[in-house]
Amino acid sequence: MNVSAENIRLSYGAQEILKGVSIQSGSNEFVGIIGPNGSGKSTLLKCIYRILRPDAGQINLDGADLHSMSVKSSALKMAVVAQHNYYNFDFSVREVALMGRSPHKRTLERDNARDYEIVEDALRTVGMLDFADRSFSTLSGGEQQRVILARALAQQTPCLILDEPTNHLDITHQLQLLKIVKQLDVTVISAIHDLNIAAMFCDRLYVLQKGEIVGCGTPEEVLTPAFLKRVYQVDAELARDSSGQLHVLYRA
Ligand code: ADP
Ligand code: MG
Repeated sequence: MNVSAENIRLSYGAQEILKGVSIQSGSNEFVGIIGPNGSGKSTLLKCIYRILRPDAGQINLDGADLHSMSVKSSALKMAVVAQHNYYNFDFSVREVALMGRSPHKRTLERDNARDYEIVEDALRTVGMLDFADRSFSTLSGGEQQRVILARALAQQTPCLILDEPTNHLDITHQLQLLKIVKQLDVTVISAIHDLNIAAMFCDRLYVLQKGEIVGCGTPEEVLTPAFLKRVYQVDAELARDSSGQLHVLYRA
């Protein structure tokens, strides 16, 4: 699925947070959004997953205007792993993952055997099937993050929106989660703050700085010492490991 956001503007009060941001993803492309803290990455993603309505601009899913679709039909196209997931009420891990099935159901339609099967597959994929009957609120942040990914997988959408999905994860689970996502045949748009992780998994990067796109291209094109100095004020070198993978090496 193609996703495009064109000239998105959004202000909180007098402060303009997104100043005419445009991004696009091709079908099954893994697009990373990088940029310093507070640059507007989450705000942009929230516009794309319909938590915020931009003041101006347009978001299209396969050429169709997002805001002319029902919430249910956009939920069949796009699943979300947001940055923070707060639950005040208590659900089991299985129940949380089953929520991913709701856009596929009619009002009050009950979950059927197929839904349970899809949810078990999703929990198995993220390594959380053994936790299916545990209470979600008793899980660690990283375990919760993996369950939220399972919920998104159970939604079976052609597009995934991820907001720093590996934040609470140790390196094993960071790599595991992104490998799972990378192997899906879906379009991915993900905010990622770790530049090495971004270089490893993204086909293309957009760089946000103070609400504007200041760079776009493959990780090789975007991640240069001059660029890292300009956007992050850090001294860095770029190197390739024995497999050819690009890495950013920071200097104190
Ligand atoms: P990022 O995800 O890149 O770290 P955010 O999109 O979360 O950045 O935030 C961009 C800017 O918008 C920040 O300066 C932040 O303080 C501000 N901001 C975010 N949410 C709100 C809000 N609800 N009200 C006012 N300002 C906000
Ligand atoms: Mg953010």
